[in-house]
Amino acid sequence: MLHLSFDYLGRSSAGRVGKVCGACLVLLFAVALGAVAAETTPESAEKAQPEAEPRSYSLKYDLAFQPEKDTATIRIAIDKGRLLRRMEFTNLPDRYSDIEANGDLTVTPEKVVWKLPDESAWLSMTVRVTHAKRPDAYDAMMTEDWAIFRGDDLIPSAATEEVPGAYAIATLDVSLPKGWKSIETGWPRKKGTTFRIDNPDRLYDRPVGWMIAGKLGTRRSKIGTTSLAVSAPKGSALKRMEVLTFLNFVWPEVKKAFSEVPEKLLVVGMGDPMWRGGLSASNSLFLHAERPLVSENGTSPLIHELTHMVTRIRGAKGDGANDDWIAEGLAEFYSFELLYRAGGMTKSRRKSILTKLSKWGKEVSSLREGDSKGPVTARAVVWIDELDREIRRRSDGASSIDDVTRDLMKLRKVGLDDLKASVEALVGEDVAAFRSSVLE
Ligand SMILES: [Zn+2]
Repeated sequence: MLHLSFDYLGRSSAGRVGKVCGACLVLLFAVALGAVAAETTPESAEKAQPEAEPRSYSLKYDLAFQPEKDTATIRIAIDKGRLLRRMEFTNLPDRYSDIEANGDLTVTPEKVVWKLPDESAWLSMTVRVTHAKRPDAYDAMMTEDWAIFRGDDLIPSAATEEVPGAYAIATLDVSLPKGWKSIETGWPRKKGTTFRIDNPDRLYDRPVGWMIAGKLGTRRSKIGTTSLAVSAPKGSALKRMEVLTFLNFVWPEVKKAFSEVPEKLLVVGMGDPMWRGGLSASNSLFLHAERPLVSENGTSPLIHELTHMVTRIRGAKGDGANDDWIAEGLAEFYSFELLYRAGGMTKSRRKSILTKLSKWGKEVSSLREGDSKGPVTARAVVWIDELDREIRRRSDGASSIDDVTRDLMKLRKVGLDDLKASVEALVGEDVAAFRSSVLE
């Protein structure tokens, strides 16, 4: 009996899985679709599998950079190939080359299929690092002195076929070129340039999220249980101390609102020609060095990305679902709300932000339209604020939008029905906000 688990993240055959919202891209996380081919009964499966066989296998990623060629080499090594039997991923011939492996490897321009040998298994490949999201706007880049990229872009997401219950104990080992001083990732550092990759969302761990390597300037802090690092190439305009101070200041409110905060957070920054916005991953985020911590309209691009990162809520999209506005609206709402709660702005400033957003979103007739951008997100924020006020009123101040957000965090992918169910569980039916014409 085989257990198929699909671990699609980052790129797929359909291109990048993620959402682009003007200034932000939220990576979507870990979909484990368990599909079990029931060839045997559970009892016979038990018998077929020797009891003594441990189900864990070692999964080691070795990453090395060749700045002169703008490439990185990846080597994936697994000690017990018999537990992770088969792996398949989309080939990207313009980025991947020199794909080699032991066992049975089939490489076509469309896909790579690898049947692992029973014992030590390895696969290696070369990946081009620099990548333009749009002309002259890069979301991955390598120079002689540094590299900024997402692990997702170097290590393909794969559909794996493992023995039921098998799971990886994974590490990432990075070899730095001569002269490069360090590497930062959103993963816990074991020692030196080795990181522990443990993603509870999936059996086959993959080192995703933002990474930065080279000659860097990094500032660190520990807030409560979270280790923060703000890193940029030496000489970058990113104001690391301002970012760190700002995060220190707002963090208690992040924790109060969302309850769960990550063990580690990496903020990576750089100026042009990198993407002029913010891009969030599960344990890290990128912020363009020239983006302000708080925009002139009073919202904070950094807290917007941070909200995406911590809550990991994404609105259901496609197949009739049209609820991107929920994730974008919440991220934008908290981008000033948490600042307000932290004492970073007055009540009248908060009110004027909402008035401006309300004017900007005035022409929006429906929130439920594809990717939520500018005016739609602005209108969504205004609606969320109305909903928050109604929840507080009806619960005599006992509940707020935070309770709903924490509820939705458990689901991650959410639609209007989920939002409605969560609110109704708190304050009962017939919530006025849900009768708004913008939800039709
Ligand atoms: Zn966003």
